[in-house]
Amino acid sequence: MKKIVVKIGSSIIAPSGKLDARLVERLVSDIIVTEKSGHKIILVSSGAIACGAHKVGVSKKPHDAHSLMALASIGQIILMDAYSDAFRKYDRVCAQILLTWDDFDNRKRFLNARATIQKLLSMNIIPVINENDAVSSDEIKFGDNDRLSALVADLVGADTAIILSDVEGLMDKGKVVTCVPKVSSKIFSLVNAKQNAFTSGGMYTKLQAANTATNSGANVIIASGNQENIITRLASGVVIGTTFLAAKNVQKARKRWIAFSKKTKGKIYIDDGAKEAILHKGRSLLGVGIIKIEGEFKKKDAVEVRDKEGTIIGCGLVNYTCEELRNGQGKKFEKEIIHRDNFAKKDECQ
Ligand code: GLU
Repeated sequence: MKKIVVKIGSSIIAPSGKLDARLVERLVSDIIVTEKSGHKIILVSSGAIACGAHKVGVSKKPHDAHSLMALASIGQIILMDAYSDAFRKYDRVCAQILLTWDDFDNRKRFLNARATIQKLLSMNIIPVINENDAVSSDEIKFGDNDRLSALVADLVGADTAIILSDVEGLMDKGKVVTCVPKVSSKIFSLVNAKQNAFTSGGMYTKLQAANTATNSGANVIIASGNQENIITRLASGVVIGTTFLAAKNVQKARKRWIAFSKKTKGKIYIDDGAKEAILHKGRSLLGVGIIKIEGEFKKKDAVEVRDKEGTIIGCGLVNYTCEELRNGQGKKFEKEIIHRDNFAKKDECQ
């Protein structure tokens, strides 16, 4: 059995603002067939804001956060109605899960979300996930479901994440790149962002998502959702769109959680000796290596670790508050500032 996260973008589910109920039916039928071949599907679906806007006659995406939040809350129910109706035709039940970035930031809620999704899968119920846009203005401003789908892929330990939108894949000189062994800066330089009135992401956010999900051990496929049986065909190994290969050396789940899910609250600048120790010798960060502290943070918050030139070298969970660190600079600390198990190097972060 393989776990597959399928992300459905607003550009296909509501191409002109209005929900395409036939497309939902087609995708649901595709999911049912894919499941029959032994896979478990977790859906991440956009479209709430577009559906909400269409319902109340708003034709252009508003700029203010509260209008977007209100539209999302109007549209989410329309979206779930469509999924629920489509699954009912196969006598199947789906469940709604609305997540915010905070749910990934907080370890307990992160584990709760994971347990709920696992439980639903064990009950043969299809989880349908979206951002909880109605309560999280930041999410609408900065968030997009490409990133959410990558975090969900990590959360559930997916084998594959399929990102479906209206693009055929990553393009290079007018052709689809079929396979990307590693998401490098060269790959990012190919990006040609494309957005419609109600989508948040573009190819750039899809590449960021591919970077995160491949680093957590999943293959990622970016393909057009406007093709017949796209999910079944991809799940059976047909090459369509762009496949990003899962990283070979996947770091431990806890380090991934720090790298992908935690929002950093402050910055710690360190000297060359400490940089060498934590980057190349697998040591913890000690107080003696700290040059400067910026920002406000509490114990166990995530902070950026930067070298003396200001280049970010990773992030980690800190054992002291910012005040304790500022007051203690130059003195000896009882504990390490960041334990090596709680530090993730930059190239492991997104
Ligand atoms: N959560 C948003 C919605 O449901 C979509 C964000 C995105 O397009 O990535 O409308």
